[in-house]
Amino acid sequence: NEFQGKVAIVSGGGSGIGAETAKILAAGGASVVLSDISLPAAEEVAAEIVNAGGKAAAFKADVANPEDAEATVEFAKKTYGGLHLAFNNAGIVGPEKYVGDLTPKGWQTVININLNGVFYAMHYQIPAILASGGGAIVNTSSIAGFIGIADLSAYCASKHGVAGLTKSASIEYGKQGIRINSLHPGYVMTPLIAQWTDTELKDALIGLHPIGRLAEPKEIAEVACFLLSDKASFMSGSQVVVDGGFLSV
Ligand code: NAD
Repeated sequence: NEFQGKVAIVSGGGSGIGAETAKILAAGGASVVLSDISLPAAEEVAAEIVNAGGKAAAFKADVANPEDAEATVEFAKKTYGGLHLAFNNAGIVGPEKYVGDLTPKGWQTVININLNGVFYAMHYQIPAILASGGGAIVNTSSIAGFIGIADLSAYCASKHGVAGLTKSASIEYGKQGIRINSLHPGYVMTPLIAQWTDTELKDALIGLHPIGRLAEPKEIAEVACFLLSDKASFMSGSQVVVDGGFLSV
């Protein structure tokens, strides 16, 4: 029960990596606020956790909205009495276009959710975590936080930005007892990818991962939870890669 007595916020908790992370945190004894732009998705995962004997509550919030970011922290404090852990994980891929064709609006949408959203979250979470005696934050970046990908300039820029934001904040708050790291997954076998009928495309994507397959969301979630736990007590400002070897090729 390594998360006993801890209060955690998981954004994008209604699906994929966020949902799996929330389940592991709750199984470890944490009280988890699952925030998501889709309330029904977050409620479904929260119900699953509660049915399994854990503590979880769903909260509707758009990470791109600073007021929602503040409200999420207030909800955690009101519901569970404080805040120790945050997994700032909600993100979108966005429009797939070359820079000359990507509209400023399309660019802004991705940056607002993937990068500004992480700033808004930490801006309100950090004072609450300090008031609760310290804790840890993990921000979801990507292998796209290290490399460029054609058609995905906004996504790559946002994920590089998350790494820089994470490192700077980790320097600012290390001595005050908040560890902050970024997590960089390779491709995950999401329902979307699983449904691809173009097997050649699917095989090509798998082929980019020397381990010979894509990740299961749980394999990313386990590392997020390790970083949030006291086992990672000397890890701060790290860019933690979980990519089946993608970046080593
Ligand atoms: P997912 O699509 O399964 O889940 C994302 C969740 O975020 C959804 O429940 C969605 O409703 C929610 N969400 C979307 N926009 C939101 C907003 N504005 N405010 C609040 N919630 C919002 O995604 P996933 O694959 O679990 O990805 C989670 C994170 O991991 C993302 O940041 C993504 O960029 C990153 N990532 C994913 C992969 C991958 O292959 N799936 C690879 C590397 C990094």
